[in-house]
Amino acid sequence: MFFHVILTSDCNLQCKYCFGESLNDFEDEFGDDIEVDYDLPRKLNYDLGLLDRFCCKDLDCCLTFYGGEPLLEAEKIRQIMDNLKPKHFMIQTNGLLLDKLEPKYVNRLHTILVSIDGREALTDYYRGKGTFRKVINNLKLIKRNGFEGELIARMTVMEQTDIQKQVQWLLANDEFCFSSVHWQLNAGFWGNDYQRRNFEAWVDSNYIPGVKELTNFWVDQMEQEGVVLKLYPLLGIANSLLNHEKNALMRCGGGWINYAIQTDGYIIPCPTMWGMNKYYLGHVSNGNPLKLKKIFVEDKPCVDCPILGVCGGRCLYANITKRWTDESYSKVCRTVEQLIAAVEGEVPRIQQLIKDEKIRHEDFDFVKYNGCEIIP
Ligand code: SF4
Ligand code: SF4
Repeated sequence: MFFHVILTSDCNLQCKYCFGESLNDFEDEFGDDIEVDYDLPRKLNYDLGLLDRFCCKDLDCCLTFYGGEPLLEAEKIRQIMDNLKPKHFMIQTNGLLLDKLEPKYVNRLHTILVSIDGREALTDYYRGKGTFRKVINNLKLIKRNGFEGELIARMTVMEQTDIQKQVQWLLANDEFCFSSVHWQLNAGFWGNDYQRRNFEAWVDSNYIPGVKELTNFWVDQMEQEGVVLKLYPLLGIANSLLNHEKNALMRCGGGWINYAIQTDGYIIPCPTMWGMNKYYLGHVSNGNPLKLKKIFVEDKPCVDCPILGVCGGRCLYANITKRWTDESYSKVCRTVEQLIAAVEGEVPRIQQLIKDEKIRHEDFDFVKYNGCEIIP
């Protein structure tokens, strides 16, 4: 099981798609049946011994430090890493404070998911001036200091992003090249942003064509270089198609294999469901990681969707909260459909490359539920 350990709700950035949108969002928009506890402690306030006992009940327990920005609580990270022994530690961070955690801790992280949106201008546009430079310097530093785990560039994408160009830039540039990239669409998470945005036009003119070209490039790289780049949305879908899996569950793992632990110790299906007490599934003090209640998508549009078995439902939070109308959300689903179609269209070429021993079937294996949602 995977658990996002939320260390703090504080963040040291004010990104456009998170802080900026939160200023325009209103508390009462989840509807009558979802109450939100807005008075949760800002910092983790339960006994770490409880987390230890909880985690010990699952030999495969993976803990992912999460926030807010988890490195604002570097001392808590040290305490947890000094005293707990899960199978793996991971972190999702904006990267600004990676230099504050000593190499003896950083180098024990199995995976670091670092938020970066592409080139300097774009990253700084979304995340604030100077962010890119600081993050890149920190990534160079942790590499120099011996970090050998997986480093995943975690992009948030929306209208200002040219998906193809930015992903390709992250893979090959003069600053810092990533070998793992994941992207997530900022779509369906806020209550009233669709009307203000230009989402549909961007999807049609840039995102969908870009994803198709990127998929083509990805398979070209297999053909020409013999490498299967870890572009998670493509990798995850290709993995399922090659293995003939037709019954995907929520691919982020939210609600059934990848949960979150709030700062007060309550367990929720995913970090975005912070404070939604209807979805509290237990508490670290008495829960068993292997016996937590599982929550699956139970509502339209997913339950009636012909590609649910590959998509998995995209996002439990979006399905439950319905922040976008059905009409608006259908544009998101079209991106999913087109992404799957793009990968599907390349499967014969991939199979041939495997047959020709240019690449191996195992090259499509990856650590599932590591924080990459697969379906953007
Ligand atoms: S494509 Fe849309 S409707 Fe279909 S399963 Fe995915 S999120 Fe649900
Ligand atoms: S995709 Fe949705 S349910 Fe899954 S982790 Fe992200 S916000 Fe949570």
